[in-house]
Amino acid sequence: MYNPKDKTRKSENRPLASYTYAGRWVTGEVSKNKFPARSMDSRAAYQLIRDEMNLDGNPALNLASFVTTWMEDEAEKLIMESLNKNYIDTEEYPQTRTIHDRLIRITGDLFHAPQAVGTATVGSSEAIMLALLAHKRRWRHKRAAAGQDYSRPNIVFGGDVHSCWEKFALYFDVEKRVIPLQPDKYTIGPDEVAPLIDENTIAVGAVLGTTFSGQCDDFTGINDLLLKLKTETGLDIPIHIDGASGGFVAAFAFPEFLCDFRLEQVKSMNVSNHKFGLVYPGMGTVLFRDESQVPEELIFQINYLGGSMANYSLNFSKPSAMILAQYYNFLRLGRSGYTRIIGNIMKIAAYVEQALADTGKFILLADGGEKYLPVAALRLRDSSRYDVFEISRRLRRYGWIVPAYTMPPNAGEIAVLRIVVREDFSLDMAENFVEDVKRVLGELEENPVKAAVKRNGRHGVC
Ligand SMILES: *Cc1c(COP(=O)(O)O)cnc(C)c1O
Repeated sequence: MYNPKDKTRKSENRPLASYTYAGRWVTGEVSKNKFPARSMDSRAAYQLIRDEMNLDGNPALNLASFVTTWMEDEAEKLIMESLNKNYIDTEEYPQTRTIHDRLIRITGDLFHAPQAVGTATVGSSEAIMLALLAHKRRWRHKRAAAGQDYSRPNIVFGGDVHSCWEKFALYFDVEKRVIPLQPDKYTIGPDEVAPLIDENTIAVGAVLGTTFSGQCDDFTGINDLLLKLKTETGLDIPIHIDGASGGFVAAFAFPEFLCDFRLEQVKSMNVSNHKFGLVYPGMGTVLFRDESQVPEELIFQINYLGGSMANYSLNFSKPSAMILAQYYNFLRLGRSGYTRIIGNIMKIAAYVEQALADTGKFILLADGGEKYLPVAALRLRDSSRYDVFEISRRLRRYGWIVPAYTMPPNAGEIAVLRIVVREDFSLDMAENFVEDVKRVLGELEENPVKAAVKRNGRHGVC
């Protein structure tokens, strides 16, 4: 969020049109602070913005993000052709809605939902909010019907969740019960969940591929715990699986892995289509096990665009483009295509991780354990002389954008370097990258430096 008190770059005090352009297309100065008084030639406006974009990193070298940076030409063509369609106008664009509904059924099939109900969203954050709001409301109905207090809902999850889970708790007044991580354990299981749940727990959150290490919470263990609780006490606590990053990975790379609606207490889950659904931002999906999971009053029947339409979302208008692009990918790639692509990026991630571990300088975070994301997550064996923050800073010189961060409590002493492999990161690039890391390590061995600034804020790496 912008705040006028924030420090901005010195150049923000100068007008936009620099002298380079004066005399070519831009005449006069353009303020960066005041609404422009006059029009400008289209070529000039285009060129000004385009040139500023040179200051951004190169998406293909962005090893920080899970979000798609490359799509096929045909997909981009569909995207361009549907940019002018507001998804919410379902009466005007009924076929887009039909395709959306098809996507929900297809995605439900992928994750074994008995009777998938759901919606596309702007991303997983919205999807998670919608799922948890439904659970909160359902819990409240049950409590109210039994004449019990419903003023103190809580939600249980691990410190390995994405920041949007804390956002939900804060914005929607639900007490968060966070299971802290440990220096050698970055996921949660039934033993940690059991003492925190009670009759006011609206849901237990479990992560499929944590942002931090690529590991998974113990779904089967948590499911067994909650099933036992249900049989013994009648208390029926749902699990929501956050498959933002790992959903599409697990479905294709680990199809036998029980991480979805095959587990009885899993009542909802989400995926980010703009991660390994392989479409550009922003699209996510929330899926419910069946209709009974979504209290009716949360679904708005909207009639003012003509016709009547059921809507469950936080935002109203949104683009159609990624819904069509996602359908394109499903048709184009199918199970075999996705399996091939996901298999490749998992192999490249494993290569990078191994090559970096072979330098002797790093320890793998998920050492020995199964990983459900194409990431290499490493920490330094010895960080007394230089640290991962300095390595990250220096890699930027070679164009690589690699985040370094500290783990959430109580593993905050552990600083991690994480590389995400996407489809546009080839084996050649991986080899070059490893060479550059080795070069940086060589420099730092000779002249050890620790980075002055460590980022230690809330976790929102994506
Ligand atoms: C990326 C991510 C999110 C947030 O998803 P968006 O689609 O960016 O809103 C939530 N949870 C996990 C585990 C993630 O990796």
